[in-house]
Amino acid sequence: MTSTTSTGPAAATGTARRVGRMLRPTAKALPEHGRAHNRSMVLAHLFHVGPSSRADLARSTGLTRVTVSGLVSELIGEGLVEELGIRAEGKVGKPATLVGMRTEAYQVVAVDLTDDLRLHGAVMSLDGAVVARRSVPLDGQTGEPAVELLDALCRDLLDAAQRPVIGVGIASPGVIDPAGVVVQAPNRGWYGLPLAERLTASLGVPVHVANDANTRALAEFTYGDASGKGTIVVTVGQGVGAGIVVDGALVLGRHHAAGEIGHVTVVDGTVPGQVPAPCACGRAGCLETVLSVPALRLAVAGDPQESDAHLASVGRLLGIALAPVVSALDLADVLLSGPPELLDGPLRESALATLRARTMPVIGDGLALRMGSLDEDGTLAGATVLVLSGQLGVT
Ligand SMILES: [Zn+2]
Repeated sequence: MTSTTSTGPAAATGTARRVGRMLRPTAKALPEHGRAHNRSMVLAHLFHVGPSSRADLARSTGLTRVTVSGLVSELIGEGLVEELGIRAEGKVGKPATLVGMRTEAYQVVAVDLTDDLRLHGAVMSLDGAVVARRSVPLDGQTGEPAVELLDALCRDLLDAAQRPVIGVGIASPGVIDPAGVVVQAPNRGWYGLPLAERLTASLGVPVHVANDANTRALAEFTYGDASGKGTIVVTVGQGVGAGIVVDGALVLGRHHAAGEIGHVTVVDGTVPGQVPAPCACGRAGCLETVLSVPALRLAVAGDPQESDAHLASVGRLLGIALAPVVSALDLADVLLSGPPELLDGPLRESALATLRARTMPVIGDGLALRMGSLDEDGTLAGATVLVLSGQLGVT
């Protein structure tokens, strides 16, 4: 296959990301799941807090010392956890042996399908840093040929991993259900495609698939500086999407399509000078027709002063679309993800001013609207979280 590989440590690898918060476990722990749930609590503590004693683990998880010791022995047997020696503090009582998660012993394969031109993938460390990259041109392919291209890219990445891979995480545009079925992704020509199941069978490792904007929101929540008090991450690329995290959990919605704000009508022809442009969804005047990167680039190609005025007018439309969402959910942060030269200026300032003007002071006054804190690899880091969460219960 024709894949490109970045070489040199600066191009290929990133630094480990700081892990901020834990997601709330979304599935209720049933009695038969008790052991798996307890195991996830122990792993999650070690992942987020770092090396700890068995007594620390018992205290933070609420489990008994006996249960914790049993779980730690099991995890050491699997190679996920190791003993790190005696704690050097001069505390009263018996010195404690520390145990830690062997984050360097395993890797994850992450793939970002957001770009319409190339499929991007990477071998990732468990703390969200890029170890090796591969990408492959899509060449306009959709449907089955696009699945085959993705399958080959995953194989290439699995070969490139230097450690055992615990799973593959894929961030895809479109509406995707929790089982990894692509309900619809019009740009890839995928409808009702059981992508996770199919790739799991083909690759022989567990594969997790989620919507790209949701994946980005997971990354901002886990590795970024979102406040954790209700966040919407608006992703601006070929299209416009959003991921919403409320009370420590992703909001999925009835059709797994929560956050699909790109196709909310913002230009309806009632304002003089604003003409609704046709949208890929078949309607006209959607947010995506003014806010997508191609639409913005086209509009700012001319005079800089007119460009700034145009960006501000798009920011206002974004603010109008977001105000009811921010109010209904009482969100604390709006993060923008996309090219900063287009988003981080008149567009962002105008969107924030519009949001403040259109929401109650109690909601709008303390509202933050800023660029996301993660770089272009944020979606790959989010795909890593999909695997950690799906395979280890660590989020
Ligand atoms: Zn549309």
